[in-house]
Amino acid sequence: MHTSPRRSFIAAAIGIAVLASSTAVQAQTTPALKAVASFSILGDLVRQVGGDRVAVEVLVAPGGDAHVFQPTPSQAKLVGQAQVVFSNGLGFEGWMSRLLNTARYKGRHVVASQGIQPQQAEGDHDHGATGGHHHEENDPHAWQSVPNAMVYVGNIAKGLCAADAAGCEGYQRNAAAYVAQLQALDADIRTAWSRIPAAQRKVITSHDAFGYYAHAYGGRFLAPQGVNTESEASAKGVAQLVRQIKKEQIKALFVESISDPRLIAQIGRETGVKPSGELFSDSLSAAGGPAPSYVAMMRANTTALTQAILGH
Ligand code: ZN
Repeated sequence: MHTSPRRSFIAAAIGIAVLASSTAVQAQTTPALKAVASFSILGDLVRQVGGDRVAVEVLVAPGGDAHVFQPTPSQAKLVGQAQVVFSNGLGFEGWMSRLLNTARYKGRHVVASQGIQPQQAEGDHDHGATGGHHHEENDPHAWQSVPNAMVYVGNIAKGLCAADAAGCEGYQRNAAAYVAQLQALDADIRTAWSRIPAAQRKVITSHDAFGYYAHAYGGRFLAPQGVNTESEASAKGVAQLVRQIKKEQIKALFVESISDPRLIAQIGRETGVKPSGELFSDSLSAAGGPAPSYVAMMRANTTALTQAILGH
């Protein structure tokens, strides 16, 4: 029995191919990096850039309110085991620095909004819903503008590259492909709003979470609660808002998925405006819902907003 040199070469080549493909399979199923993202929207952005190479855990689950979040001991443990932690910054996660201390976190902390010029809370001067004491506060909801989300993606790619140089090329490739999707999303949102005269673009939501959206795409968003849900809406502010809705005949009234709907329901009763449904401000929906990803969320919000204003 003898094997020709050619046949053994082929056998060896097949062996190498099998070996190579099993390594590739392993690389796909065993992530190289453990990451934690503070809230679901940021978690999706990190997953888009990280791909299969990064295991992403999210602290504030879909439907949760990151403003008033309290991490559990098991979440502190999760943070302690991570190599990279992503937060929004701009004062959104007041609980983050204490959590990193509690977890004795030694890894990399990436603030995804880095480089974005913070906007101040808007609207408080107009309706006084929070007694005006929030007008010095930064608005943390920068992700509500798609151009800002592109900045987040750049910071995420940079942070992942710093934590895992071997995966950097892949992260940059994923980031570039995702930014192309975001550019298309941004253009679609602008097109959707272009059908609506500027004077009609008035919306009431639960809290002041759409300042960056309004700045990017036009329109005015008013809310009984300020940029931070820790502050209660004042009775005086709500009464002023009700008067303004009647006077300006504002028709778009929305609850937010993270907020108690009762205040918006009350405003609806007092103004005779029927709430138009739900917006996703600070959180994605659950996987089967209308906003399971950032792109889906921005599309769902834009459709709901423009249809409410157009009276569909
Ligand atoms: Zn918020």
